[in-house]
Amino acid sequence: MRASRFFISTLKEAPSDAEIVSHQLMMRAGMIKRLGSGIYTYMPTGLRVIRKVEGIIREEMNRAGAIELLMPLVQPAELWQETGRWDKMGPELMRVKDRHGREFAIQPTSEEVITDVVRSELKSYRQLPVNFYHIQTKFRDERRPRFGLMRGREFTMKDAYSFDRDVAGMQQSYQTMFDAYSKIFTRFGLKFRAVAADNGAIGGTGSHEFHVIASTGEDALVYCPDSDFAANMEAAEALSIGERGAANQPLAKTSTPGKTKCEAVAELLNVPLQQHVKSIALTVEHEGKKTYFLLLLRADHELNEIKVSKVEGLKDFRFSTEAEIQEVYGTVPGYLGPINTRAPVVVVADRTVANMADFICGANEADYHYTGANWGRDVAEPLVADLRNVVEGDASPDGKGVLAIERGIEVGHVFQLGTAYSEAMGATFLDENGKPAPLQMGCYGIGVTRILGAAIEQNFDDKGIVWPDSIAPFELVLCPMGMDRSEMVKEQVEKLYADLQAAGIDVIVDDRGLRPGAMFADWELIGVPHRVVIGERGLKEGNLEYQGRRDDAATSVPVDEMVAFIK
Ligand code: ATP
Ligand code: MG
Ligand code: MG
Ligand code: MG
Repeated sequence: MRASRFFISTLKEAPSDAEIVSHQLMMRAGMIKRLGSGIYTYMPTGLRVIRKVEGIIREEMNRAGAIELLMPLVQPAELWQETGRWDKMGPELMRVKDRHGREFAIQPTSEEVITDVVRSELKSYRQLPVNFYHIQTKFRDERRPRFGLMRGREFTMKDAYSFDRDVAGMQQSYQTMFDAYSKIFTRFGLKFRAVAADNGAIGGTGSHEFHVIASTGEDALVYCPDSDFAANMEAAEALSIGERGAANQPLAKTSTPGKTKCEAVAELLNVPLQQHVKSIALTVEHEGKKTYFLLLLRADHELNEIKVSKVEGLKDFRFSTEAEIQEVYGTVPGYLGPINTRAPVVVVADRTVANMADFICGANEADYHYTGANWGRDVAEPLVADLRNVVEGDASPDGKGVLAIERGIEVGHVFQLGTAYSEAMGATFLDENGKPAPLQMGCYGIGVTRILGAAIEQNFDDKGIVWPDSIAPFELVLCPMGMDRSEMVKEQVEKLYADLQAAGIDVIVDDRGLRPGAMFADWELIGVPHRVVIGERGLKEGNLEYQGRRDDAATSVPVDEMVAFIK
């Protein structure tokens, strides 16, 4: 590639809405351009990185025996109704109508469509196991799109779906994908960790997330440096580990047979469940002072437990009494009406209170939540940190050491789904005895575009991005000094350019005629990992200057040895 025929557009300053370093650097390096909230154009330099990420994923998926296809972006509502997700998914699922008034989903993921493909195409156990994948645009109407490509609304995902005849087969397919993911993230050159995860709303039996380790990550990861134990915070908490875990039982155990926990809590509190919002009134008594909280929950989420026992001074956290509800909120069953109370309102969208920081800032969606119910992230986050049932230094559940906590960015997720989708959609195969049985399914996602943000969060300095070689937009940049003035330089640049290309190196020549300072600054910002400077002075001594993106100084390399040196 020649820079004069490519498109490079760098900025000195990042736009003010770019909060984290990867977003700032991608904007400054001209890799993405914002079109709307969570919607970006992938500019040529950024697209090169995306293509490299996709290339590695594709190679390893194919090597692991998965088969590529491509499913539509726009999917009929009927399929989503079959599994119940049309109703369950809430506003994150983008819905559109065609000219005939028929409804469609813009896919956030494709379990329904692949299960539909498979139920009509697969007939016999002889065709199993099979694993289909695609690399496709996704749309999720995220409550709070942010951090550039990290949490976009439109983004690219690789999603794969395995089908097996029995549970053992599904577990083997899962392991194959787990291993492929480990290879993929190793090839990206990123520091990552696989952690056990909750299955969440998707249902099923087993799940792991792959996280790129970065201090700016949204997720807390719990692991034991002396053993294999690793789980995300929610999964670790679900194990009720932590030295204080046993002593501090959740305040309310609300498992009532046949009822969701929210229904049971509502019954306990004698309040009606509203269509979109469930609520729970809580009272904290401390040193004679009472504080009231109203927890609002999205109706499609389930509150597992109320874990508040670790908040200093909040020992007397309990459900509000009817009298308190009446006093604070007005009438008892009607307190879900317009909120004009003296109580702070905590809004919880996720399944556990420990996740509430996620939700608080975005809680006031029109026509979905009550307005004016924002407690604020600054108040919530320290409290949420304290709410955790697992802290550094707790004993590891395997007894092999103590736990450490680090932050990560979720870049991949593998699930054992079992028969949840195949049963809902009637996807069966004929087993060896000719009897129909539901397919055992797994699903496996990688956030292709999120990888860019995650890689930068892990690899940058004050000059810009430092791409790992395997996913860099270009592996090497040739920077000629005074190419227009010196025939010697010009000749050597052309020769080296041809030799490096022949050696399979993804090289760009900066023939834009910029001054050295501006030229170097651009490539340091863009994050090309290797640079070779070609100047007349060095050439007269038979040398070129090599500098790795992380090196403090350049190294002189004899002209004839440069290609071998780079390889
Ligand atoms: P998150 O917890 O960050 O919202 P998720 O658990 O909802 O992610 P999955 O349904 O597991 O996401 O999707 C598979 C992968 O897709 C994730 O591991 C992540 O890398 C990526 N991904 C999910 N949502 C987004 C998004 N809004 N923007 C970019 N990538 C995303
Ligand atoms: Mg999500
Ligand atoms: Mg997640
Ligand atoms: Mg996930």
